[in-house]
Amino acid sequence: MVAQKGTENINNDKHDLLKSTQIIIHEALEKLGYSDEVYELLKEPLRMLTVKIPVRMDDGTTKVFTGYRAQHNDAVGPTKGGVRFHPDVTEDEVKALSVWMSLKCGIVDLPYGGGKGGIVCDPRTMSFRELERLSREYVRAISQIVGPTKDIPAPDVFTNSQIMAWMYDEYSRLDAFNSPGFITGKPLVLGGSHGRDSATAKGVTICIREAAKKRGIQLEGARVVVQGFGNAGGFLSKFMHDSGAKVIGISDAYGALYDPNGLDIDYLLDRRDSFGTVTKLFKNTISNKELLELDCDILVPAAIGNQIREDNAHNIKANIVVEAANGPTTLEATKILTERGILLVPDVLASAGGVTVSYFEWVQNNQGYYWSEEEVAEKLEKIMVNAFENIYKIATTRKVDMRLAAYMVGVRKMAEACRFRGWV
Ligand code: GLU
Repeated sequence: MVAQKGTENINNDKHDLLKSTQIIIHEALEKLGYSDEVYELLKEPLRMLTVKIPVRMDDGTTKVFTGYRAQHNDAVGPTKGGVRFHPDVTEDEVKALSVWMSLKCGIVDLPYGGGKGGIVCDPRTMSFRELERLSREYVRAISQIVGPTKDIPAPDVFTNSQIMAWMYDEYSRLDAFNSPGFITGKPLVLGGSHGRDSATAKGVTICIREAAKKRGIQLEGARVVVQGFGNAGGFLSKFMHDSGAKVIGISDAYGALYDPNGLDIDYLLDRRDSFGTVTKLFKNTISNKELLELDCDILVPAAIGNQIREDNAHNIKANIVVEAANGPTTLEATKILTERGILLVPDVLASAGGVTVSYFEWVQNNQGYYWSEEEVAEKLEKIMVNAFENIYKIATTRKVDMRLAAYMVGVRKMAEACRFRGWV
C-alpha cells in the first residue's frame, strides 16, 4: 500500500508513472509509423501551471497549499480532466494523469485533449468550510487557463459534486455569467448529468462484461475482487453484486475484507464514510497485498497507482484484470500478466466511462437541453462497447497487449490533429 511507504518512494513511483507512460506512447507512435517529432510533442503536457493557494483555516491561521493544472494537448479540442485532492499529489503524477486523459478521450473518441489538476492536501483532516475556501481559491488561481472552451475540470480522487459546485460558483462569479460548461460532475440541480456519479463504474462494468465474454466466463457466480471502495470501487461492487457475481473481496486504504461466499455489499456501502472507508469497523481484515493475490476470476484495482508490480504480478490468480484506477499496474507487471495469459483491460479504456459522461454533461450544458438517465446509459453503453471491441481487435491482429493497443488508438487522433494543424 502506497500509504505505508515513505514520501521518497511515493515520489519515485510517480516519476516512474510518467516515464512508463512515455515509453508506451513512444512504442505506440512507432507502431503507427509516426516520427520522433510527434513523440517529442506528445511526451509531456503543453502547459503546466503550479500555483500557491493561501487559505484561511478555521483557527485563524493561513495555510499555503500547492496546486497544479496540466494541459497535455489541445489539438483535438479543449483539455478535460479531473482535479484530485490528496496529500501524495506530485507534479509528475499530475503530468502523467493529463497524458492519460488525452489517451482516454482518444479511445472513446471525444472532441477533447487531456488535462488534470491536483492539490497537495488531505481533505480527510479539513473542515467543510476549509474545503470550500480551498476549492474557490484554486479556481481563482488557475482561472486564466481554464474555461468551457479551454480546459474543463471534473471530479477525481477525494473530490465530489459539492466541490465541483463551489468551483462552478466561483468561476461563474469571476466570469460574471452562469457557465455550467466550465466544470463537469456537478450536482443535478446545477446542470449535472444523470448517471455521472456512477459513470466510471458503469464503464468498468461494461468492460468486465465484454472481457468475460471473450474468456467464456459467466458473470453469474463469478468471483470478483475489488480494491478500493470509493466512488468507482463502491458503485462497481454494487453493480457486480446486482448482476449476480460474487464480490468476495473489497478494500480501503486501511485494509481489506474477504469472504469466499461473497460479501454483503449493500451493508458495507451503507456503513462506509464519504472517503470510502469501511474496513476499520471490522476485526478480521486482510492486507491489500493479500487481497490482490486472492483466488478469483476477476480482479479490479479501483484505488491508487502502482499496486500490481514486478514483485506480486506472478501471484495474481485472476483470469481477468480490469483497471478502474489510474495506473494500478506497472509496465513490468503488464508484461508478466500478459505472458501468463491474463486478460488485462487497461485503465485508459476501462475507466473512460467517467469522462464520457462528463462529455455528455458538457454537451447538455452547451445546448441547455437535458437527457434522461436511460439516454445517458444507452449512449455510454454504445461508446464503451465500440471502444472495447476496437482495442481488442487491434490487440489480436497486431499481436500486442491490450495496453499498447489502447495507447495506439488513444494517441492516433491526437497525432493526426497535430499534423493537420501544422504543429509537426
Ligand atoms: N477524473 C476522471 C478520470 O480520471 C474523470 C475526468 C472527467 O470527467 O473529465 O477519468
